Amino acid sequence: MPKTEGAATLAAVLAEARRRLAAGDMDDPALEARMIVEHFTGTARKDAIATPERSVSAGEIANIDDAVNRRLAGEPVHRIFGWREFYGLRLKLSPDTLEPRPDTETLVDAVLPFVRETVRREGHCRVLDLGTGTGAIGLAIAAQVPEVIVTATDISAGSLATATGNAARLGLAARFIPRVSDWFSAVDGKFHAIVSNPPYIEAGAIAGLQLEVRLHDPVRALDGGADGLDAYRAIAAGAPEHLDENAIIAVEVGEGQGRDVALIFSEAGFRMASAHRDLAGTERALVFGG
Ligand code: GLN
Repeated sequence: MPKTEGAATLAAVLAEARRRLAAGDMDDPALEARMIVEHFTGTARKDAIATPERSVSAGEIANIDDAVNRRLAGEPVHRIFGWREFYGLRLKLSPDTLEPRPDTETLVDAVLPFVRETVRREGHCRVLDLGTGTGAIGLAIAAQVPEVIVTATDISAGSLATATGNAARLGLAARFIPRVSDWFSAVDGKFHAIVSNPPYIEAGAIAGLQLEVRLHDPVRALDGGADGLDAYRAIAAGAPEHLDENAIIAVEVGEGQGRDVALIFSEAGFRMASAHRDLAGTERALVFGG
């Protein structure tokens, strides 16, 4: 059935999107076709199985064609949709924000037990999310634990506006304090936990990243300086005066950076409490105590 015909079925539209993405050499045409078709038809995976004959309107087909074209031109699927899910939360993206990645959920999992324990002991938990981007880490923690109050910083005012909008849509605005800040420059007070997924790509490696990342994630959210570790140095240097007693710092690290990052924090007087692997088995989050 031609793709422009109004009476096209879900199965036919899905097959056509998959065929075009496969012909364009996309990594996972089946998955991305499904995501695009589900998004623009408001269906779920089970619908394609249970009701493959469901009709898809001409308008929906036009949206799907347009999205497939954008994908073929290199735009990541979630940039096309304008949002991505993180820790079960739908987060709006903007050109200023990194697209949150599932790997970063490792960091959230790593700190939640500590956050809950702090709440049991003190009735609340103050969390500082440095370089919040879409708000992903701070909002995920706040959504899981109602006694959490997050201060979220970003050097980009645009990012922070996106994060603040996400907090409002999720009903978390009352516990989400945004601050435009270059790491700690505009941060006051002390926290039970400092969390961050900072930029950690070596400056010289950015040109070699996948096009999806290089062209669509903001460079400022990626660039960690010459050796990729500048942000960790800034965080380790500023953290001591912003930590409560018994506080932790948890950071995401790039592949193979664990040892160097551990050294930076140990030289600043912290001891490593735990290391956490992502679903691919890569060391991804480190937790330090005072
Ligand atoms: N904290 C945000 C995230 O994990 C943004 C991180 C960044 O821009 N480097 O998605």
